[in-house]
Amino acid sequence: MLFKNISIIDENFECQNNMFLATKDNIIAYIGKEKPSEDFGREYDGTGKVIIPGLYNSHAHAPMSILRGYAENLPLSEWLNNRIFPFEAKMVGEDIYNGALLSFAEGLKFGTVSSTEMYYWGEYLGRAVEESGIKCNISLSVLCFDNSSLYDLPIYKENETIIPKLHKSSNGRLKVDLSLHAEYTSTPKVVSEMAQYAKQKALNMHIHLSETKAEVEGCKQRHNGQTPAEYFNSLGIFDVPTTAAHCVWLQKNDFDILKEKGVTAVNCPISNLKLASGFCNVKKLLDNGVNIALGTDSAASNNNLNLFEELKLFATLYKATNYDATAITPQQALRCATLNGAISQGRENCGKIKVGNCADIVVINTDSPNMQPIHNMLNNIVYSLSSDDILLTMVDGEVLYENGEYTKLDIEKIIFNANESTKKILKQL
Ligand SMILES: [Zn+2]
Repeated sequence: MLFKNISIIDENFECQNNMFLATKDNIIAYIGKEKPSEDFGREYDGTGKVIIPGLYNSHAHAPMSILRGYAENLPLSEWLNNRIFPFEAKMVGEDIYNGALLSFAEGLKFGTVSSTEMYYWGEYLGRAVEESGIKCNISLSVLCFDNSSLYDLPIYKENETIIPKLHKSSNGRLKVDLSLHAEYTSTPKVVSEMAQYAKQKALNMHIHLSETKAEVEGCKQRHNGQTPAEYFNSLGIFDVPTTAAHCVWLQKNDFDILKEKGVTAVNCPISNLKLASGFCNVKKLLDNGVNIALGTDSAASNNNLNLFEELKLFATLYKATNYDATAITPQQALRCATLNGAISQGRENCGKIKVGNCADIVVINTDSPNMQPIHNMLNNIVYSLSSDDILLTMVDGEVLYENGEYTKLDIEKIIFNANESTKKILKQL
C-alpha cells in the first residue's frame, strides 16, 4: 500500500511533510520525498493527514470490558472485593473471549496496535488476539494466599500448556509473558519460584507495582521494611524484562532499581485518578531514565480504552503535579505511548515509523477544526486530537480499521456477544 503526500512522524519523532510511505507484506518498505517507482498496490491520498506509529496499550485486562460501568464510585478495596472479584468468579472461557474481542476492537478504533494483557484463560485470550489481528503480550496472573508452590498452582499447568502453543504464534503477533498479580496477592515462595521459572523460560514478566499507598505500607510491614520494588528485586523478579503497572507510590531507592533492572513503568493516569490511587512521579522516572509506557488498565476502571486520552493526560497532569509546564514534552509523551511500549513487549523493529520496521501505523486526519492551524504537529496530536480524527489503523501491513469500519471483525456480533456474557453473569450473581 502506498500513502501519498502525507505527513509522517518519523523515527526521531519529528514531523516530515509531503512524504510517500509504502508498505510491503508486513513491513514499511519505503519512506521518501519522491514517489517510488515500484508498484506497492493500493494508493492512499494522504493530503491533510499524518501517519504516526501505532499505539501500545502497555497495561490492560481486555476481558474486563464486560464489566464496564458495573462498579463505580467505590474505594479500591470495596470495588475489588465486593464487585469485581465476585463478577470475575463467574466468568468462563467464552466470556473472556467475548470481552477481549470487544476490547481489541475498541483499541483498534483508537489507534492501538498492541496491548500487554494480564488475565486468565490464556487459550481464549489467544483466540481473541488471533482473530483480531492485533499484537499482544498475554499473561496469566498468579494469585496465591497459602503455602502452595508455584508448581502446584493450576496457572502453572496452564502456562505449561499455552507457552509452547501460543508464544510467538500468529506470525509473532502473539507472545506469552508470565505474571504475578501483585505483592499483596502472592507469597515470597511463589515469587521466588516465579523468578526462577521466568529465567528458565526466558519470558517477560508483568506485575502490578506500588499502585496504592496501602499496598506499599502493607508490604513494608510484611517484608522487613522493603517496598514492593525492593521486595520483588530481592527475589529476582526483575532479572527478566518486566512491565510494572502503576508505580504510583515509588520511594527513593525504587527509581534506581527500576532504572538499573530495565523495568518498564506503565503509567495509567485515568485508572489512578478514578480509583483515587494517587499521582505517579513521572518526572522523576523520566529524569532517572526509566522506560515509561502508557496503559488504560481495564475498562472497569477507566472506562474506555482510548489511549489518546491517557496520552493527553500524561502530558498535562504531571506538569501540574510538578508545578512545571516543561516537565513532559509532547514528543516524550508520544514516545511513551508507542516505542516504549514496543520496547517493554520485547518487540524489535516495532514502535516507530522507519523503513524495515513492522507496518504498525495509524493515520490521523489533520483537516478537522480541532487540528487547525498546525504550528507543531506533535502538539496537535497530543493536545488537540479527537478520536474522530483517527482514520485508519494498520497492523503488520494489514488495514484492520478504516473510516469507522472493521475489515476483519464483525463488530455487531462482538458487541452482541459481550452483552450476552454480561447478562448471563448478572443473572448468576
Ligand atoms: Zn491492572
